[in-house]
Amino acid sequence: MASDDQISLFDLSGTATPTPVASTPNYNPDLIPTDAKVPIVPGTYNSMEEMSQHCNRCQRCKLGQSRTHAVISRGNPQAPIMIVGEGPGQNEDETGLPFVGKAGQLLDKILESVRLTTERDVFICNVVKCRPPGNRTPEADEIAACRGYLIEQVRLVDPQIILLTGATAVRGVTGDKQGITKIRGQWTEWQGKLCMPIFHPAYLLRNPSKEKGSPKWLMWQDIQAVRARLDELLSGE
Ligand code: SF4
Repeated sequence: MASDDQISLFDLSGTATPTPVASTPNYNPDLIPTDAKVPIVPGTYNSMEEMSQHCNRCQRCKLGQSRTHAVISRGNPQAPIMIVGEGPGQNEDETGLPFVGKAGQLLDKILESVRLTTERDVFICNVVKCRPPGNRTPEADEIAACRGYLIEQVRLVDPQIILLTGATAVRGVTGDKQGITKIRGQWTEWQGKLCMPIFHPAYLLRNPSKEKGSPKWLMWQDIQAVRARLDELLSGE
């Protein structure tokens, strides 16, 4: 398929309905402290379901006071690719699932354009698990309080590739304060994993041009590079 046609797949039309993380019987999240001063020890959780139950009672930062649902993940918890976004928006807070609004629909289309699916290849989560009021950017203390959960997700999923969507996710995860336009598409390393910053799909919604050099065109280059690297890793090269 020609690349122009592939970029057209980034247009929104129709979406699958994702499934929320299920709960685990007999797990008591009250046994784990939620005070931000108590670190989340690596190996605390045996599953995403356990972590989900804990996060839904968590008050490690002030975002816990206003959330409807903690937003943990969607996609395959054994996926080779993990995508990390900034934080939940209104749709995500209501459903308990990340990237389910227009930006999430576009993200799914971008993945589809290189034959990646959340059912098989991709696990999606956020830097902070609870919605910042008014969709503001998460603050440094909130990102720090929630960081242990993200590290646990990386340990549990053990992906081969991590994609960081947008500058806030990059800053929150790696500490890199450079603009996303400058660092997108460049491979780096975090938590021993191959890692690439990419544009946030919401940014692409605001910049619909598909001309060469446009954000959508650049995303197309990046997602092809990710697909190629994944193919190399899976074939053992
Ligand atoms: S954002 Fe993270 S640290 Fe803050 S209350 Fe929610 S789960 Fe806890």
